[in-house]
Amino acid sequence: MVRAVAIVGYQETGKTKIVEGLVRELSKRGYRVATVKHVVERGFSIDRPDKDTWRHARAGARVVVSLAPRELATIERRSAKLEEVLRGLEKSDFVIIEGFKGLKNSAKIVAARSKADLRKLADEFTIASVGVRKAGLPAFELKHVKRLADLVERRVPPVLPEIDCKHCGYKTCREFALAVIAGKRRWDGCPTLQERVILTVDGRQVFLNPFIQDMIAGAIVGILSSLKGAKGERIELKVVKRAG
Ligand code: SF4
Repeated sequence: MVRAVAIVGYQETGKTKIVEGLVRELSKRGYRVATVKHVVERGFSIDRPDKDTWRHARAGARVVVSLAPRELATIERRSAKLEEVLRGLEKSDFVIIEGFKGLKNSAKIVAARSKADLRKLADEFTIASVGVRKAGLPAFELKHVKRLADLVERRVPPVLPEIDCKHCGYKTCREFALAVIAGKRRWDGCPTLQERVILTVDGRQVFLNPFIQDMIAGAIVGILSSLKGAKGERIELKVVKRAG
């Protein structure tokens, strides 16, 4: 279950230092941590015109992979939504995002130098501020990274399916996320994410509410019980639609 928190703020507010501190501390605690950096510069590329990879892409390769003894880099020349990127990082426990000031419906920590900036950037999804205080919001200094990591562990909700199935007792995924952020609900309280059945369509995961998961699991296990040699804990079924 991947959980994401964005570190937002204007320039020179220490966002990268906060990201570094959280990555170090959460990794030390045994979590698998990934990061995403928002780059606003149009035309930005991590590739360089003097590299072979650049020439591969210029010749028309849609995906260019650079495989070195200690690094694997995949470059795709296309735009993507953050949600898509987060779903691709599902093997991580935490994704620390640097930037995305306008991000909605996602836990965030605001780094600010003035109360006015904090007011502009903080919303109901803000779990803490760094640098400036605001009544009712936990405030930290850069040196308090351990305490900030404690808060991230408790108050950052998982990336939710947005299917509003109500099985957690809240009407919407958004309400559940706000309850976690406010400390009223544990972060792992979404039953839909406790997956028994994982459905992917053309490689994309389709989230199923617990009722549908139970129904599918019951039917498949029932069928398998009548088949010889089909006993086991982990069952994988692939359905390929015939053309026409
Ligand atoms: S159970 Fe999970 S998927 Fe369903 S509304 Fe609650 S948070 Fe959303």
